[in-house]
Amino acid sequence: MTSRTSTTPAFPQGTGHRYDVVILGGGIMGSSTAYFVKSLFPETDVCVVEPDSTYAFASTLRASGGVRVLFSCPENIEMSKFGRDFIKAFPTTMAVDGREAPVDWVTGGYLFIVPPEQMGLLEANFEAQQRHGCEVELLAPEALKARFPSMEVSDLGGGVHSTQDGWCDPNGLLQGFRRKAISLGVTYIEDRVAKLVRDRHRVTRAALASGRSIDADTFVNAAGAWSAQLCDHVAMPLPVSPLRRFEHYFTCGNPIERLPYVKDVDRLAFRSEGAGFSGGLVDGGEPRGFNFDVDHEYFERVVWPALAQRFPPFESAKCHRTWSGLYEQCELDGNPIIGRWRELGNFFVVTGFSGHGMMHAPAAGRGIAELIGHGEFRTLDLRRFGYERIEAGAPYPERGIV
Ligand SMILES: Cc1cc2nc3c(=O)[nH]c(=O)nc-3n(C[C@H](O)[C@H](O)[C@H](O)COP(=O)(O)OP(=O)(O)OC[C@H]3O[C@@H](n4cnc5c(N)ncnc54)[C@H](O)[C@@H]3O)c2cc1C
Repeated sequence: MTSRTSTTPAFPQGTGHRYDVVILGGGIMGSSTAYFVKSLFPETDVCVVEPDSTYAFASTLRASGGVRVLFSCPENIEMSKFGRDFIKAFPTTMAVDGREAPVDWVTGGYLFIVPPEQMGLLEANFEAQQRHGCEVELLAPEALKARFPSMEVSDLGGGVHSTQDGWCDPNGLLQGFRRKAISLGVTYIEDRVAKLVRDRHRVTRAALASGRSIDADTFVNAAGAWSAQLCDHVAMPLPVSPLRRFEHYFTCGNPIERLPYVKDVDRLAFRSEGAGFSGGLVDGGEPRGFNFDVDHEYFERVVWPALAQRFPPFESAKCHRTWSGLYEQCELDGNPIIGRWRELGNFFVVTGFSGHGMMHAPAAGRGIAELIGHGEFRTLDLRRFGYERIEAGAPYPERGIV
């Protein structure tokens, strides 16, 4: 990709219904992108098209808020490190008119536990995380037991504990990005993209459900689980599907020590929340689709046995609430797609985060802003997450526990 010279303004000024950059979807990804484009290139005229300012079905508001460096791909580790620092400083960085942007950050730590046959992979990931300067500890079953006495460890090979990871309030993060972006001059339009108009190798127009239309130099598809629908308008293949996932709020029913965000290879994942816990167990075989139905038996049938087997005090667990949300699942390799298709030079995608989108939104938004304005990544090199691998059908999989 070519770089623009530093003396050339990145964008011409926009007027009326013509913008320099139009972002399709105003969830965490779209709002982070809007913030970074406007911060890095203040002269840019940016708008975000988002049909629902309550975000009733957006994945962001249904997320569990976890932020971790426990990945295998260097890009994911570095995106998490940037995201974590960014989120910790978020209340003040994103303050508007002296009003802070609270995100309720908790440095609770993360713990990945694996059976003996997965220890080789866990150790390789641990070494990669150490090389990237992460605060991680490799713990044998006895050390796990000493630290978390209620844990059943007899079938485990070990675990990795990342002490500086944690979790935050996804809604606070989204609202903070949105408010700050608006304060910098970004326009949010409450409407739905009904059609994208393509003229050979460019997208020229977004036709909206209200009948209005918006022309722009650059379009960014940040529509999460809906992003493949938008790509269909311009005949761009995008292997991103909606994958339903349940999240539960539950209490333990017995005294238990304070736990980090625990994850295992069967995709059980939970963390403390107030007097109880928030978490679930991802079913990767779930049929793809826009299904928000809640299976109220799922906790008892699937989650509770896994919890109680690992931590016997959860024998008396009680589920108080279950909700469903959608992963924007990248079917090629479970990693995000951040870039553009060479057939369509002004149409960028930032999607496919497959369960990691909240924590990676700051780095992804900054990366897309750099691509748009500089023509290349300037901070983190995210080229391996580009669209080229989709075209080539060459997966770049994440080998941490996802
Ligand atoms: C249960 C659950 C738990 C999760 N836990 C975590 C976690 O612990 N940590 C983590 O990092 N991530 C987590 N995630 C993943 C994370 O929530 C997502 O990766 C992230 O929110 C994706 O953000 P987004 O902005 O791309 O999507 P969304 O938040 O879904 O935003 C997309 C927006 O696009 C809009 N849109 C749709 N169609 C159109 C259209 N035609 N025109 C214009 N706009 C449109 C929608 O209204 C929506 O607001 C979790 C997800 C779920 C479901």
